[in-house]
Amino acid sequence: MDLFASVEHLNGVGPKTAETLKKYGIRTVRDFLYNLPRDYESYEAPTSIREMRPGKVVIKGRIDSLSTRRARRRNLSVTEGVIRDATGAVKVVWFNQGYRVKQFSPEKEYYFTGTYELRNGRYSIVSPSAAEVTEVDPSTGLSPIYVAHGALKSHDYKRLMGKSRGIFAEIPDMLPSVKAGTRAKALFYAHFPNTMKSVEGARNYLAYEELFELILAARLNRRENEKLRAEPVKFEAARIRELVSRLPFALTGAQRRAAWEVFQDMEREVPMNRLLQGDVGSGKTVVAGLAAYEAFTGGVQVAMLAPTAILAAQHYEGLTKILEPLGVRVALLTGATKKKTDLKRSIKAGEIDLVIGTHALLTDDTEFVRLGLVVIDEQHRFGVEQRQRLMLKSPAGLAPHLLSMTATPIPRSLQLTVFGDLDASVLDELPAGRQLVATSIITEVETREVLYPKMEEIMRSAPDAKKHGDKAHGQQIYWICKAIEDPEGESSGSRGGNKSSGGGSKSSDESIGKSASEVTSVKKRCKRLREVFPKATVEFLHGKMKPAEKDLIMERFASGEIDILVSTTVVEVGVDVPNATLMVIENAESYGLAQLHQLRGRVGRGASAAYCYLLTSGDLRPSRRLLELTKSNDGFYLSEVDLKLRGPGEIYGALQHGALDLRIASLSDTKLIARAQKDVMRFLQNPENLVKYKELMQGITKYQQITTLN
Ligand code: ADP
Ligand code: MG
Repeated sequence: MDLFASVEHLNGVGPKTAETLKKYGIRTVRDFLYNLPRDYESYEAPTSIREMRPGKVVIKGRIDSLSTRRARRRNLSVTEGVIRDATGAVKVVWFNQGYRVKQFSPEKEYYFTGTYELRNGRYSIVSPSAAEVTEVDPSTGLSPIYVAHGALKSHDYKRLMGKSRGIFAEIPDMLPSVKAGTRAKALFYAHFPNTMKSVEGARNYLAYEELFELILAARLNRRENEKLRAEPVKFEAARIRELVSRLPFALTGAQRRAAWEVFQDMEREVPMNRLLQGDVGSGKTVVAGLAAYEAFTGGVQVAMLAPTAILAAQHYEGLTKILEPLGVRVALLTGATKKKTDLKRSIKAGEIDLVIGTHALLTDDTEFVRLGLVVIDEQHRFGVEQRQRLMLKSPAGLAPHLLSMTATPIPRSLQLTVFGDLDASVLDELPAGRQLVATSIITEVETREVLYPKMEEIMRSAPDAKKHGDKAHGQQIYWICKAIEDPEGESSGSRGGNKSSGGGSKSSDESIGKSASEVTSVKKRCKRLREVFPKATVEFLHGKMKPAEKDLIMERFASGEIDILVSTTVVEVGVDVPNATLMVIENAESYGLAQLHQLRGRVGRGASAAYCYLLTSGDLRPSRRLLELTKSNDGFYLSEVDLKLRGPGEIYGALQHGALDLRIASLSDTKLIARAQKDVMRFLQNPENLVKYKELMQGITKYQQITTLN
């Protein structure tokens, strides 16, 4: 069995299934085997229908009369049916899971487990998970639950796994440090659990394997980086002091520490490869500004890459203000920049010291004479190739120093261990006077009574003391929507790039995230809010608008002219308007924890109290993600929670493009990490291993992409 063979080689996988699998990053047999269940359901000891009591129940029976209808309330489809056993019948209900109609065949017997409760005056089983009786181990009743991928639901994965049962025995060992056969056994029990104990054993091995790969990838990356040469930049204490004394605020202790670490790195001949992590609003930009000035004094050019034009413009404005008086020539290069050719000529001639820009920076014709420092803001928003393209713009034989910045922190637990080889600075201190954002979850039904009055109140409050928004008559509001326009026809809800549905909710094996048709668009919401608040200025903003239009809207919002800005997540990163004190996030359940936290960071930047409302449809209980957000404003804490809920995939971002996810979330297991670290060290002592363990080396390339910054 060639583990790297394409999924088409698997039993039961036709072209259409293969296409879906590939879309979700499952390209090879190996990927398929490593698509582990996210949980297990127990169908142990079913009761008869007659003996059911309200609460969680397991029953065994046949199902019929299945049909789906739209509920009276918008945005909800209801699938109903009847489950029968020898003792009686019970109604069953699912919400937004229309595929259930096709899942069952009337001849077959199934287990169901869900809540038996009173709904609309009648007892029913609500949102049960289900498994074919023949597919569940009768002695333990355990059945795996897979994350649904588009049309491929959990039960489809179970069926496909069943057809591939035969290949498990052929799975070869991969790691030098474990007993022969451990891997094949672990994978088998992960997919075909017989006892919870065998599942634990399986997951333990698989966690170890994953740690081994990650740590090895990180080590090898560091080795690669150490081989490169960079232009050393001497630390100029007096000049840096001068810049610091001109700043309109005192640096926080954390900013000083981070800047100091950066300066020390830049003095070396090995390129700096540093990650600057700091919660939203912690003041990363000024640290980048200090690094840029240091590079300038050392005579090298600086490129700063930002994910959006809005953000690039904001950095340009902020950094020009502090750096230009000191003689630094700063330029902005985005898609909208006029006279690009002229600007590029100046960059190439060395007449520009610091270029701030978006993807427009990456084109081949953007050349530098002496690029010595690259700053990447919101680094997780860029793919490895994009980052690399910028790195290659240094003079031949040299690599630039690299400062990557992110507001999505690596959980401390990972940083000390798995990513121990990564140079990271942390801004763990917010500038004085920052507000905690009071966050609450509300349902659509409560909009009128709770939300609108609050919005009125905000718009009547005196503008924030900070010197932004001189045109504001009150405080301002962000309203975040998911979609730009109303969908035409039934398009798929899970758009690429949005990894939010990674499995935070544990309710059942439904696919999480709404379809596009259930989402209110920016335009529609804008129209509605204009009706609700006729005196307010309401405008919208989204990523597909022309850069000039976007800039204009942002300018008007920053000046206080716009009261309510209805926007997609383009405002997610970096945007800084202290007079905006309330944010509403519509369809909050469809975002990941980290993203919600970042969005929320747009408010609470001034002296006034700030609020965030997470608006949900209210059909399901609020997820753990949302609840945690109401309890904490601490990005590090939330990143730990996120890690526990979904695994650390998001940390480095390549995965946002879909392909990669860390499988095992038990990375808080320090003993296991220590063991993997030791074993990796031993592995690396023998250079031949890098050739001998082919599958391992091939498998870690994807982790190398995650653990590398350059
Ligand atoms: P982020 O880390 O989210 O990128 P920014 O760099 O955008 O944060 O900084 C957020 C705001 O805080 C900016 O308005 C910036 O001028 C301000 N700021 C940065 N450092 C300090 C400081 N030490 N004291 C007060 N304000 C600061
Ligand atoms: Mg920022």
